[in-house]
Amino acid sequence: STPELRELLLGRIKDVQDYPKPGVVFKDITPLLADPKAFAALTEALVELAVRYGATKIVGLEARGFILAAPVAVQAGIGFIPVRKAGKLPGATLAQSYELEYGTAEIEVHAEDLSDGDRVMVIDDVLATGGTAEASLELIRRAGAEVAGVAVLMELSFLPGREKLAPALGDAPLDAL
Ligand code: AMP
Repeated sequence: STPELRELLLGRIKDVQDYPKPGVVFKDITPLLADPKAFAALTEALVELAVRYGATKIVGLEARGFILAAPVAVQAGIGFIPVRKAGKLPGATLAQSYELEYGTAEIEVHAEDLSDGDRVMVIDDVLATGGTAEASLELIRRAGAEVAGVAVLMELSFLPGREKLAPALGDAPLDAL
């Protein structure tokens, strides 16, 4: 991303101290979503990445990933696939559980949404520990599809998310705008 884009995006992300619990700095993207210039610039940058990745499907991670990924899928002219928290999808799903700080979580995808020839781009707002993104890459591979790349608005570089994701990424790129 260019310095101008970084400045525009960073200026629309609000740090909220001690949310949702003490010690956490929550990255609130709602000011960015409310600014049509910033949201459009973000969407455009993500569409460029989708083209560079050669993506044939866009996966958005619940819930803020949905908001960022949907306009990218429409503009790139490729399908949008939701990866949801367990128990939200009505059809036959593949499920993947992963470790949280305390306990485990589970995400799901409709099995029929991804297939052999697909090259899948994953989009989310924040890469923190990398656990959610890593689980999504497992789902994509288990569905028989290929991981084209992962793009996030922000990477919390004081956490080892990039390192955690590296084995699951293989040769696929991880871009943080
Ligand atoms: P992780 O699995 O630890 O990489 O966490 C990533 C998921 O949690 C993403 O879907 C983010 O939306 C959310 N998340 C984690 N940390 C933050 C944060 N500091 N601010 C906002 N969202 C966060």
